[in-house]
Amino acid sequence: MLANGLSLDDIGSQAFNCQACNLAKGRLNVVFGVGNPLSGAIFIGEAPGAQEDELGLPFVGRSGKLLRELMVKAGLSIDNDLYLTNIVKCRPPGNRTPSRAEIDACSYFIDSQMAIIKPKTIVLIGSLALKSILKINLPISQIRGKWLDYGSDCQAMAIFHPAYLLRFGQGLPNSPSEVTLLDLRKIYSRIDKLKSI
Ligand code: SF4
Repeated sequence: MLANGLSLDDIGSQAFNCQACNLAKGRLNVVFGVGNPLSGAIFIGEAPGAQEDELGLPFVGRSGKLLRELMVKAGLSIDNDLYLTNIVKCRPPGNRTPSRAEIDACSYFIDSQMAIIKPKTIVLIGSLALKSILKINLPISQIRGKWLDYGSDCQAMAIFHPAYLLRFGQGLPNSPSEVTLLDLRKIYSRIDKLKSI
C-alpha cells in the first residue's frame, strides 16, 4: 500500500482507465502486470506487443513465450517468485519503441508498483527498462549478468530482451538465449536465497 492508502489493485484500476498519453487511443487492453506482488522480485520489460495487448497479459507473444520458457528452465515460478510488468502499460502502434513522453506519462504506474512491491530483486529486461529504472545508457551486452546496487537492500540485473534472443539460434553454446538462461539461474538463486531470510 502507498502512503496515500492506495493498493496495487487501486493503481491497476487507475491504469485501466488511464488516458494520460496517446497510447490509450489504440489499445485493446491495459497490460498492468501479473505474478506475486509479495515475492520481493519485479521483472520489468518495455511495453506490450500485439498479443499482450489482445490478452491483457505481459510477455505472452512469441518473444515473451521464449522468456517464460527460460524462466521456468531456470527454476522460476512466474506465479510465485516474481511480479512481471513493463515500463509502459499500453501497446505502442506497430510495436515501436515508446517515446520519452509516453514513458514519462506512464512512470506513475511503474513507480507506484515499485513503491508497493518494495523489491529486493529487480530484473530489467532490455535496454529501455535499464535506462528508465537505473538511468544507465549502455548496451545490455556490456552490463548483463552483473548485480548492481539499487538502494540499500535491493539489487538489480539487466538481461537481454527476448526479442533479441529470437534473432539467434536457441540452445547453442554461448548464444544469447543460453547466456540469458545462466543470468536467470543467478537471479533464481538470489530470489530463492532471500525466501529463507
Ligand atoms: Fe496511461 Fe500508461 Fe496507457 Fe499512456 S501507456 S494511456 S500513461 S497507462
